[in-house]
Amino acid sequence: MRSTILVLFALCLNVFDILGQNQITFKNPIEIVLSKNYSNELKEGSKIVISRIVRLKDINGFISFSYIGVDSLGAEYYLKESLVKNAIYPLNPTVDQVWEIGLIKNKVYEELLLNGYRFDIRKELNQEATSFIKLLSERDQFFNDAYLEDYLYRILNKIHKGYLTDGRPGNISIRVIKDATPNAMALPNGCIILTTGLISCMNSESQLIGVIAHEVAHFVNDHHILCYLKEQARQKRAEFWTGVVAGLAVATDAYLASNNRDYSFGVLSNTAIVAATLISEAVVKRMGINYSHDQEFSADMLGKNVLNSLSLEEYAMAGALQLLKKHNYLSGDYSSIVGGESHPSIENRISALGGYYSDTVSSIKYDAEISFVNTYNAANLFYIKSDFMAALNLINRNITAKTGSANDFLIKSRLIRRLGDTRESNVEALDLLNRSRQLMTEPSFWLEKDEALIQLRLNEKVKSVSCLNRYHESLKGELPDSKQSINFDYLDFFREEISWTIDMINKIESL
Ligand SMILES: [Zn+2]
Repeated sequence: MRSTILVLFALCLNVFDILGQNQITFKNPIEIVLSKNYSNELKEGSKIVISRIVRLKDINGFISFSYIGVDSLGAEYYLKESLVKNAIYPLNPTVDQVWEIGLIKNKVYEELLLNGYRFDIRKELNQEATSFIKLLSERDQFFNDAYLEDYLYRILNKIHKGYLTDGRPGNISIRVIKDATPNAMALPNGCIILTTGLISCMNSESQLIGVIAHEVAHFVNDHHILCYLKEQARQKRAEFWTGVVAGLAVATDAYLASNNRDYSFGVLSNTAIVAATLISEAVVKRMGINYSHDQEFSADMLGKNVLNSLSLEEYAMAGALQLLKKHNYLSGDYSSIVGGESHPSIENRISALGGYYSDTVSSIKYDAEISFVNTYNAANLFYIKSDFMAALNLINRNITAKTGSANDFLIKSRLIRRLGDTRESNVEALDLLNRSRQLMTEPSFWLEKDEALIQLRLNEKVKSVSCLNRYHESLKGELPDSKQSINFDYLDFFREEISWTIDMINKIESL
C-alpha cells in the first residue's frame, strides 16, 4: 500500500513537472564557470553543469528562481540567478547550447515559471497565424520551388532542431512568398516566412542563415507573446481578417486597373501586389511580431552566435543587415533605415553587432541554389517596378553561376534593349534571345516578336518581316476558343496582337 502511494506521489510530481509549473529541465545542460567566489565550496573558477531551473516561493509568497547544477564530483547546488547570469559561458557552444543559453539569458524560463505557459494566448496567436497562412495560400502567394524548399530545410536543420523541448507547443517551419521586397518574419506558430526579395538580397548562405536564425530567435524567445500582452484592445478575429481581405481587394483592383499584362511571362499576375498589401502594420501587430528594440537586438546577437557555433563567418549577420540597408537606400525605402518608435534603425543594429562589414562577399554557389528566386524577382523588378539595373544584376548572378534559364536570357535580352541601342548591344540582345529559344520548352513563338524588333534595330527589314509572319501564323494557330472561359482576357489579347502584327508588317517598308 505504502509503495503504491509513493508511486502515485512520484507520478503526480512528474505531471507537475511536465506542466512546467515549478521547474524546467534543460535538454542541453550547460557548463558554466563561476566568475566570483560564492561560498567555501563554490569559488571563482568552479565549473558547474546547470541542468534545471526551479521556482521557489518563500513563506511571504515572494517568488525567486534557482538554477540547479552539479560540479565535477557530482555535488548538487542551488545557484542564484544573478550568479548564473554573470557566470562565464562556454566559448564554443554547440548550436543547441546557443539556444539554451539564449533562453537562460533572455529569462524565457523565468517568464514561463512565473506566468505559466499561457496556452490560451498561444492558441489564439496560432489561430491568427493559420488565418494569415490560409489567406496567403488562397491568394497564391507561396513561391513554388521544391528544390528551394528542400534547400531551406537543410539550412533550418543546421540552425535549430525545429521544435521546443521545454513543453511549449509549435514547430519551426519555413515558407517563401512571392514578394520582391526583402522581408522576413516569424509567425507565432513557428512558421518563418521569407520573401523572394529577401533571399535574392542576400549574397551568401551564411547571411541567409543569420537572417533565419534571427527569426527563429524571435519565435524561440516568445517575443510574440510579450508583444501580444502589450496590445490592449483586440478586434474579433473574423472581423479583423475580413477587413484585411477588403483592403486587399482595393489594392488588387488598383493594380489591375493599371493594366499590366505580359502574356509571354507566366510568372506575372496580380499576385505581385498581394504580399506587400498583406504584410501591413496591422497584420504584423495582430500577429504579435511588432518587436521592441531590445527584442531585435537580442535576435541579432543570437543570429551571430548561431553563425559562430556553426563555424561560419559571424560577421555575416551584420553583412545581411548591411545588404538590407543598401537595398532600402536603392529602392527609396528609408523607414527601416531611420527606424522608429518600435523599430531600431538598421544602422544601430549593425553597430550593436560590432560595426560595418564590407558587402563584397558573393557566393556563386549560393546564387546557383537560389537561381529560380532570382529569376522571379528579376521579372518582378523588370515588368512591374521598371527597376532595370536591379533586374539585370539578378539575371547576371544567375548567368555567372551557370544557372541561366530560358527566362533569364529572355529578360536580359529585353533589359539590354531598355538600357541601350548600339549595334553591339543589339547583337548581344539577339544572341541572348537565341540562347533563350534553345532552352525554351514551352511554345517559343513569342520570341519571334522580340526578334522582329531587334532585327528592325539592326536595320534587317526582310528578317523582321519573316519573324512577324511566323508570329502571325502562330498567333492564329493558338487563338483560344471564344467559348472558353479564361480568367485573363486572352481572346482580346490575341486579337490585338494579330492586328498589331499585320499593321507592323504593312508599315515596315516605310520605316
Ligand atoms: Zn526581427
